[in-house]
Amino acid sequence: MADRNSNFNSALEGSLLELERLGMSRVLRTEQVKAISTLTSGEDLVAVLPTGFGKSLIFQLLVRVVECLTGKASCVLVVCPLKSIIQDQLAEATSLGLKAVALGNCRLDDISSGKYQIIYGSAEEILSKPFLSCLKKTDSPFHQQLCAIVVDECHTVETWTGQRSSKKGKTDAFRASFGELGMLRSFCKKSTPVGALTGTADPTTRETIKRALNLSQTAEVIYVSPNRLNLRFSVQKVKKEQHLKKLDWLVDLVKKEGINTPKTIVFCNTMNEIAIVVNYLMSQLGKKVFFPNYSSVKDNCLIGIYHSNSWQSSKDRVMEQFKSGGVKRVIIATTALCMGVNFPDVRFIINWGPARSILDQHQEAGRAGRDGKTAHVIVIYHGQQVGHCEQQIKDFVRAKGCFRVAAYKSLDDTIQPLEPPHDCCSFCSSICKCAG
Ligand SMILES: [Zn+2]
Ligand SMILES: [Zn+2]
Repeated sequence: MADRNSNFNSALEGSLLELERLGMSRVLRTEQVKAISTLTSGEDLVAVLPTGFGKSLIFQLLVRVVECLTGKASCVLVVCPLKSIIQDQLAEATSLGLKAVALGNCRLDDISSGKYQIIYGSAEEILSKPFLSCLKKTDSPFHQQLCAIVVDECHTVETWTGQRSSKKGKTDAFRASFGELGMLRSFCKKSTPVGALTGTADPTTRETIKRALNLSQTAEVIYVSPNRLNLRFSVQKVKKEQHLKKLDWLVDLVKKEGINTPKTIVFCNTMNEIAIVVNYLMSQLGKKVFFPNYSSVKDNCLIGIYHSNSWQSSKDRVMEQFKSGGVKRVIIATTALCMGVNFPDVRFIINWGPARSILDQHQEAGRAGRDGKTAHVIVIYHGQQVGHCEQQIKDFVRAKGCFRVAAYKSLDDTIQPLEPPHDCCSFCSSICKCAG
């Protein structure tokens, strides 16, 4: 055991040195190390780590560590629920010097010959007949080298298997394919571990994940509290007629700061709401919505729109302009923007009506303040917008006490209000007695 530990530690050290050479930080959190070590020793894993924690680094480093330990090439198969995540992940892995590929974009022969270190695919792609027969060819380098199957954003298992949400719109085939992921390991060599990663999963979801993915009963569970101390929660209920007025502070902010407006995302639940919010902001801002002011070209508009029906090219352009200190400062989006998209310096998340589920709400809030600096999550809603939401959302927005405690209650009921109270939420702030 001691031997295994010291081998693991020096393999990890070597892999981190490589990261450092690429200009990346080589400081890992204990939970990341624990996750890598669990998978390295062939044990199953459920890791619930808050957004911004560095979940992807777990399997990116895993490949390198296993390669150091065995002295042979290795690879990881990563199941992703959304194509947009795959694109981001590919770019990230490649920037770390890893040979990564998306299943749709390569020849199976190249996978079979062991050319890649990380292979990304959707559940359907991975469960397709051609890929499965490639995976089970026991004499292929790919079969030999595969060191783990990772299911990213695995909380979506609930929507996909229909275990929690009654949301329609996912086809049965889609659900079935996620359910079938559980049998994937029977195509791999013995003791290939499965790692399930997510940012948000309450105890019920964790059990569903274990069951649906066929994880061992003794799977290691790593859990880090979702409580994001740098987020300030604010919940405001308004009359429907007053709803748009509640965005006037944002209008003033953009008028004053222009191209320096702190990054803001307004999440809406429907296309119609997106249109209403965008029209209001545009009409209130007039020429000031463009940078420079005399321009009226879409690319110079400080406001961007992002939803699942946008053209991919338009989504990419909006993201690019939001990411790199570009001209987009305020994005009006549906929850489609959420997963896997990382901007460190988003200062305001506005929920134009709460998200439909508490997990979505946390995913959306999780876009704020990933740099660790103070950021605000502001839920502005009118009564009609809550009808379609799940009970946990109703409990959150109608809380008679601390909104932080209420928001996290179903994920972790030990979370307490922050001190001093004005740093916590709009309720605590209203009863704070200090001068701050
Ligand atoms: Zn509070
Ligand atoms: Zn105070």
